[in-house]
Amino acid sequence: MMEPIMHAFVESLRHHMTAEDVVNVEACMNCKRCGDACAWYLATGDEQLHPTYKTNFLRSIYRRYMTLEGQVGGMLGLVDTPTVDDLREHMASFWQCTACGRCTLACPAGISTRRLVRLARSAYSDAGLSDENPTLRSIVQNLRQNSHSFGVNPINILARYGLFLTAMNLEMPVDVQDTDILFVCPSAANTKIPDYAIKVMAILNAANVSYTVSSRMVETGTEADHVVVHHDLTKRVLEAWESEAERLGARKLLVVECGCDTRTLFADATEILGRPLKFPVILFDPLIYERIQSGELPVEKVDTTITLHDPCHSTRLAGIGDAIRDLLNSVASNFIEMTPNREYNYCCNGGAGACACRKIRNYAVRYRCSRPTRSAIPGPNWSPPPAWCACSRWKIPARPTI
Ligand code: SF4
Ligand code: SF4
Repeated sequence: MMEPIMHAFVESLRHHMTAEDVVNVEACMNCKRCGDACAWYLATGDEQLHPTYKTNFLRSIYRRYMTLEGQVGGMLGLVDTPTVDDLREHMASFWQCTACGRCTLACPAGISTRRLVRLARSAYSDAGLSDENPTLRSIVQNLRQNSHSFGVNPINILARYGLFLTAMNLEMPVDVQDTDILFVCPSAANTKIPDYAIKVMAILNAANVSYTVSSRMVETGTEADHVVVHHDLTKRVLEAWESEAERLGARKLLVVECGCDTRTLFADATEILGRPLKFPVILFDPLIYERIQSGELPVEKVDTTITLHDPCHSTRLAGIGDAIRDLLNSVASNFIEMTPNREYNYCCNGGAGACACRKIRNYAVRYRCSRPTRSAIPGPNWSPPPAWCACSRWKIPARPTI
């Protein structure tokens, strides 16, 4: 008889696994090459940060509880039987990963560790075990009680926006009907980066974009979809976003510089909702680039050298690397690439919840971003901004010490 928590965990896997995931579980040859691509493993050499440390544990659950030979072999004592204690022991390893997808590039079988990590995280959520981590628990509680991952009230967020924008003599459109675009700022940004939404609105105003912010919606679901991986809560946030666009008569949803939101809206949303999003999604960078090209947003190129850290979820997993480069090339005289770049970039080691884990937080303090990521920055004389996404901005040092 399976323990109830293990039963819930296995049922979650059964519910969310696709045919491709069965291949991800079954096809591994245990060659370990995936570790050669993982910035965390390369930086630390810690075996518990190797991609296979987590995925092989998930495989052992699949084989024991979800295959016929495992069920029979387990009863005969021929196959190991993972327990709920084992689930607890391995739980942190699934958050010791930014789900960046780089290890898949090194895998001869093309196995997606990030996909297996997401499956495991959602199973930990469905089995109630992720509630044992205070960061994950608080995100879920805040979303349930306040519809905001960090529990901040929309009125407080709008008041802060208003204070900054008034000081800059700029207007903030709130609940304006029938605009082209609804702009919702990610909750991590409207909580932890005070000037993030302010700068977005300043640029949208200067570019004469028809947009509004909402007095009700101040959450995009990033933490639910990528940090906790809680499908029901993510679905609820996405539906609320659509309802708010309907209430306001907005025609499109805007994704600003958040790698995880880009991935959610361009790839995950259809799976989570079970249908396509009701609204077209547009990205901030192509929108602004188009305004520059059309002359509606006059810019003077800055005479400087800049580079770019490709955010994994935007470039590797959502394919928008060119859009960011077009914009950077239109505002700076000398854009140079990091090496490697685009889909081969090293992860900033900051996104998708890795910092919900104490061990990673300790590493993060020590390494800021990992050695491979720092070594990809092209020389000591580059100028910011290198980082497109908010997590990368936290993690990548303004002046690297390489
Ligand atoms: S590189 Fe691929 S096949 Fe080799 S151990 Fe990693 S996931 Fe398995
Ligand atoms: S998804 Fe990224 S962080 Fe996670 S194991 Fe693979 S390379 Fe490492």
